[in-house]
Amino acid sequence: MLLGPPGAGKGTQARKLSESFVVPDISTGDIFRNAVTQRTPMGMAAKRFIDRGELVPDDVTILIVEERLAQPDAAAGFILDGFPRTVHQATAFDAMLAAMDKTLDAVIEISVPRELLIQRLTQRATCTNCQASYHLTDAPPKTAGVCDRCGGTLVHRDDDSAKMVLHRLEVHDAQTAPLVSYYKGAGLLRTVDGTQPIDAVFSAIVAAAAPQGGRAA
Ligand code: ADP
Ligand code: ADP
Ligand code: ZN
Repeated sequence: MLLGPPGAGKGTQARKLSESFVVPDISTGDIFRNAVTQRTPMGMAAKRFIDRGELVPDDVTILIVEERLAQPDAAAGFILDGFPRTVHQATAFDAMLAAMDKTLDAVIEISVPRELLIQRLTQRATCTNCQASYHLTDAPPKTAGVCDRCGGTLVHRDDDSAKMVLHRLEVHDAQTAPLVSYYKGAGLLRTVDGTQPIDAVFSAIVAAAAPQGGRAA
C-alpha cells in the first residue's frame, strides 16, 4: 500500500512496482477517472466530488475496491495506490483482507514537502488512456504530449490547477494524514524520502517492503 499526499509519486511508483512484481496496480483515482470518461452512473456521481477536489464518499469507494479485489488478477497480490484515504476506508479494508484471508505486507509512506508537491502537480501531465503521469521538466515523455507507454494523449488534469491543488492538500491533511498513525500503530508503516529521483525512490520502496529482517535484492 502506497500512502502519501497528492503529488508524492504514488502513481509513478505503483506502475513500476506493478511491472516489477507482476501484480496489478489498483488506483481508485484511475478507476474513477476511467468511469468518468466512460460516463457510467458511478463515474458521473464521482465526478461531482473529483471536480471539487473532495473525496468520493466512502461507501462508493469501498464498494469499487471490493469489486476490484475480487478480480482473478488480484488473487496473487496487488499494489494499492490512493486507497484507503480515510480511516473508515482503512477499517473497511482491514475487514476485506480478513475475509480474503490475506495480510498487508507493508504500508509505504512517500514523504515529500508541500512546496514540491505543488510544483509537481501543477506541472503534471497525465495520459488520458492509461493514466501514466509525466512531469514537464522532471519526468518528461519522449515526445511532447504523447504517452511513452501507450501513445495516448497527455493532458493537464483539471484538478491539478493551482487552486484545486491547495484544496486537495487540505483535504489530504484533514482526512488522509491520520492514516499514518493508523498504520504506524499496526506496525506496518515504512517512510521513504520521495524527493529522490524516481529510480532511487523505487529502490527505497523495494528495500522498505522487504520482509522484516530481510534484505532488499
Ligand atoms: P492524486 O494523484 O492527487 O493522489 P488520485 O488520482 O488518487 O489523486 O485521485 C483523484 C481524485 O479521485 C481525488 O481527489 C478524489 O476525488 C478521488 N479519489 C481517489 N481515490 C479516492 C479514495 N480512496 N477515496 C475517495 N476519493 C478518492
Ligand atoms: P501521485 O500519484 O502521488 O499523485 P504521481 O506519481 O502522479 O503522484 O507524481 C506526481 C508528479 O510528480 C508527476 O508529474 C510525476 O511525473 C512527478 N514525479 C513523481 N515522482 C517523482 C520523483 N521522484 N522526482 C521528480 N518528479 C516526480
Ligand atoms: Zn498512456
